[in-house]
Amino acid sequence: MSTAGPALVAAELRGYRRFRLATDGGLHPPVQGGPAWDPGLEHAVCPSGHDGPTRGCGCGLHAWYHPADAVGAGDVLASVLVRGPTVLGDHGMRAAAARVEAVAVRDTRTRAAITARYPGVTVMASTRRLVRTHPPQPVDSLGVIATLSPTSKYRRAFLLLWGIGVALFYSTVALAATTGLGDPALLLAAVVLGQAVLGWLVARSLHDSTSTSGQTKPA
Ligand SMILES: [Zn+2]
Repeated sequence: MSTAGPALVAAELRGYRRFRLATDGGLHPPVQGGPAWDPGLEHAVCPSGHDGPTRGCGCGLHAWYHPADAVGAGDVLASVLVRGPTVLGDHGMRAAAARVEAVAVRDTRTRAAITARYPGVTVMASTRRLVRTHPPQPVDSLGVIATLSPTSKYRRAFLLLWGIGVALFYSTVALAATTGLGDPALLLAAVVLGQAVLGWLVARSLHDSTSTSGQTKPA
């Protein structure tokens, strides 16, 4: 992360984040709770009372650069456009102001509720389509070398390993059942080893999600 002060985003910069969805179509911050975002421009409010996000304070409207990082709490994925003074991190940013650009919701009735409440927001049926039509913007011109957060990397490794483990386990069981061969102790050892590696990946994922760059808490 750069040590410079907040950058001023002259135009709008796209990011991704999740929202908790209310039954009336309101899009709420998923972690701290609080009121739904404004249908127009949402402004960050800091309890300390200063203007705009600073590096020493965790306030500001959070968005990740890449949709793969926008996971966890919240019901829906949205692309947002941030503007004004913005703290740029390695994986995401905290802005003084932002507006919802597009949101992905599967349920038709909920989509209608969001459209009624947020007339300017594009409401799409799938996250895949949202990302395809609202792709990540390059941020290298702002002096940021954006990377996926370590949490995302560990999560991907976890899923890959889990898939391989499940496939191996069942093929071994099938082989032992059909041939009458197979050493139960060896099978047990393989399962225990697999669980240990998965446990380590989960621990790393949780550790990194609480320690990366001080700006990973969605607001
Ligand atoms: Zn603050």
